Amino acid sequence: MSETGTLASSLGAIRSRIEAACHRGGRKPEEVRLIAVSKTVPAERVREAVALGIRDLGENRVQEATEKAAALGAGPTWHLLGHLQSNKAKKAVELFSWVHSLDSAEIAGEVAKRSAAIGKTIDALIELNLTGESQKTGLDPARLDETVEAIRNLPGLRLRGLMTMAPFTDDLETVRRCFRELRDTLERTRDLHNLGPDFRDLSMGMTGDFEIAIEEGSTMIRIGRALFGDRPAP
Ligand SMILES: *Cc1c(COP(=O)(O)O)cnc(C)c1O
Repeated sequence: MSETGTLASSLGAIRSRIEAACHRGGRKPEEVRLIAVSKTVPAERVREAVALGIRDLGENRVQEATEKAAALGAGPTWHLLGHLQSNKAKKAVELFSWVHSLDSAEIAGEVAKRSAAIGKTIDALIELNLTGESQKTGLDPARLDETVEAIRNLPGLRLRGLMTMAPFTDDLETVRRCFRELRDTLERTRDLHNLGPDFRDLSMGMTGDFEIAIEEGSTMIRIGRALFGDRPAP
């Protein structure tokens, strides 16, 4: 099969799995946004994905994304998924529409300041570390309420919801519990802080666990390997 043929069949398979998971969870496929995670994938191949109907692209690094976006041109919506350093915030807000990985009030403040300065409003998610695994990024949930209060009204930032990565385990019940906890936290936070209907997104689910995430209410799944194949080892 040609490379585009492979990509098309992978995409078709993912879409069927999304539909089946939605069916099991009593949800509609339109409620789940597919973000193609294109980190390490060359621009030509990403362009094929866009030609097949992919509209949302996720990247972990500002520099890599900026180079790829220049090669691809206007069209796709870019999502920053990786940890952001404050010295990259200015460059990040030029390209990205969404930031899924806010993990402190400080970095949120920097993103807001830089986006407001260029007349933009970034759609943002707070990334929570629900597993306590120290190698992972994300905000300690104990600090969520104070962080929400600190950033909820910043010009240049629209708080849209929460993101998490499930624990590295084969135990699917543990993964499901993590996703359920994120959903419960979203609802509790929205009510406690009166955040309104904009605060509704749950960015959860990757290649290994997106169906469980959808069953548990995910609105944004971040899929790399199931679409583009395995990445080279880091
Ligand atoms: C790499 C990455 C993904 C995609 O992972 P796959 O297992 O390839 O689907 C999703 N989210 C984040 C934050 C990532 O770093």
